[in-house]
Amino acid sequence: MKIGILGGGQLAMMMVQMSAKHNIEFIVVDPSTNPPASKFAKCISSSFDDKISLDMLIESCDVVTIDFENVPSESLKYLEKNIEVYPGSYAVEICQDRLKEKQIFSKNNIPTTEYRVIDTESDLISAIEDLGKDTILKSRKLGYDGKNQITINNLTASDAWIQSGKNEAILEKKVDFKSELSIIGIRTKSGDTFYYPLVENFHQDGILNISVAPYEDNSLQKKAEEYHRKLSQELNYVGVLVIEFFLDHDNRLIANEMAPRVHNSGHWTNEGANISQFEAHIMAISDIKIQDIFANNNSGMLNILSKMPDNIDENSDEYKLYDYGKSERENRKLGHITLTSKNKKDLLSKISKLKDKIF
Ligand code: AMP
Repeated sequence: MKIGILGGGQLAMMMVQMSAKHNIEFIVVDPSTNPPASKFAKCISSSFDDKISLDMLIESCDVVTIDFENVPSESLKYLEKNIEVYPGSYAVEICQDRLKEKQIFSKNNIPTTEYRVIDTESDLISAIEDLGKDTILKSRKLGYDGKNQITINNLTASDAWIQSGKNEAILEKKVDFKSELSIIGIRTKSGDTFYYPLVENFHQDGILNISVAPYEDNSLQKKAEEYHRKLSQELNYVGVLVIEFFLDHDNRLIANEMAPRVHNSGHWTNEGANISQFEAHIMAISDIKIQDIFANNNSGMLNILSKMPDNIDENSDEYKLYDYGKSERENRKLGHITLTSKNKKDLLSKISKLKDKIF
């Protein structure tokens, strides 16, 4: 079995590393020099729409996947004519556009944030009159990790519209949430679904900082799985699909966005589950049978952003440090730390100590 991956970042790197036992050969395509996955797999250095590279994948691979949702959907469509591609262009195109995402949530009766569609400055003026100033202007495309988002607060519609670059957007009402949760689910080719327990996520400046799993509330788990099952079926999805939710003060799950790929909030599964999200995704797209998915323990994950810490031990029994081997840059994801414990209190105290060291 040979798998092509569009994108050679840390997600591709871990897909390769964590599925080593399946004897799969990987080829990644990435426009940057020496991306993280290139240390572990053959790497084609090119843009994602380079026909020669896409033809090489068609020639040599059995299936193609992605580690980055903003690959041109035209490339996926081109590949799809010749080879299996999971997730497919239909699902990826929806996840690339916040408006389409909202529409598919609503179509499937999945509660989502209140929003208005913004194509012009006058749309923004009336949307702010409607939803108020406690709102966020989010570009429809290329928005993740809080990118391309403007909090309105005291801004005038005109200033916000200029700052946004006048791109197609949505104005979204801020949710007064008590926490943020995500469901990481896997759908196989035969339509079976498997779930990790809900994970609680803590963000700073729109970027994931810490994840803790499992979030203990069985009724929420069932609801999140029900939402995921509807969506993944509608998208005819194969592989890992993640939905991020706000949990409001009435204990309602409100969908924020989804990711058609393995996700940062699932990194804890490397040490904390019987099969990691990376291996599970590769198994699903290669049609290797998954028997069951479960968490072994309480698990936590801390992201390392901007600078690799020099004050923590690289080899510890208490945690595992991942270094993606990237050069340092403000707010760049450079690595992460996972830890597990039978006891949640003990886990939270370990997370807190590490947090003081690395943040
Ligand atoms: P996003 O790129 O949409 O995932 O947003 C990044 C982070 O910004 C989220 O994880 C939240 O912490 C925050 N955020 C985004 N949208 C909202 C909202 N409508 N209400 C409150 N916080 C939000």
